[in-house]
Amino acid sequence: MEKGKIFNIMKYSIHDGPGIRTTVFFKGCPLSCQWCHNPESQEFGQELMYRPERCVACGQCLELCSNGATIYLEGKLIYLRDQCLACGECCTACHAGVRELVAKTMSVSEVMAEIEKDVIFYDESGGGVTFSGGEALMQPEFLSEILKSCRKKEIHTAVETCGFISLDSLQIISEYVDLFLYDLKLMDSRRHQAVTGVSNELILRNLKWLAEYHPKVIVRVAIIPGINDDEENLRQLGEFLASLKSVAELHCLPYHKAGVDKYQRLGLEYRLSDLQSPDNERMEEIAKRMEEFSLNVKIGG
Ligand code: SF4
Ligand code: SF4
Repeated sequence: MEKGKIFNIMKYSIHDGPGIRTTVFFKGCPLSCQWCHNPESQEFGQELMYRPERCVACGQCLELCSNGATIYLEGKLIYLRDQCLACGECCTACHAGVRELVAKTMSVSEVMAEIEKDVIFYDESGGGVTFSGGEALMQPEFLSEILKSCRKKEIHTAVETCGFISLDSLQIISEYVDLFLYDLKLMDSRRHQAVTGVSNELILRNLKWLAEYHPKVIVRVAIIPGINDDEENLRQLGEFLASLKSVAELHCLPYHKAGVDKYQRLGLEYRLSDLQSPDNERMEEIAKRMEEFSLNVKIGG
């Protein structure tokens, strides 16, 4: 049976598809969007989250780290991320919640056991399970086995994807997916590359295929002021979506700062710290502009 890397399983989610849902977050993403609110999802490898402000200086971790990544220097306990192998040894000893390994390796049956705990909520609310990330399609065999198990148990499934994946993987899983939540960022490929690390041709091609062959696709665009809310991008986005065979809805999601503190815990720099969320008026304006392309537009997820 396949195993995969999962960094979170969130219960009672109401923003990742219809009804009450369980969202399973896969680790690893081919993009590195500057505004990502799950930076711990990007690396496929294991990582250590570190919250030094919680440390009570008990020294337990020091004894367990044989890699020189936790040392005493001038009377202070120091964590050296560059030396850390994310083995997790120190996490077992730290009861103050300073050290936490981001992901765990789970089997299909372990993930299914979590999903099935909430079947009663799915049934009552018209909900189900959403596979998010990271990029769930970076682990296609693992995802595919879970999707097939959900189908057998008649659990509604949604896959949120960035679209930067092989068409083969998309085609293999698509018959077991009830709903795709397809994230778009920017229409100009060079601008896309500058803020996400990859070009967008593959993403747009895959969406075109999905809109033609899958019955339910919702496109989601996070509105990032100064990055993708200009008229040129909105026009290109509207024209592209209007040209597709079938897109059920376009969801415009206002940029927010949730998750910014995780950058610090991972030793990463957050490059958009001065950016403000768009206000309701601006989101209404954008929604109206997109409706001009005969799209079914919603603000929020
Ligand atoms: S995760 Fe492993 S290598 Fe990193 S600090 Fe802890 S014990 Fe040391
Ligand atoms: S085990 Fe945790 S609380 Fe104790 S010294 Fe290490 S990081 Fe601090």
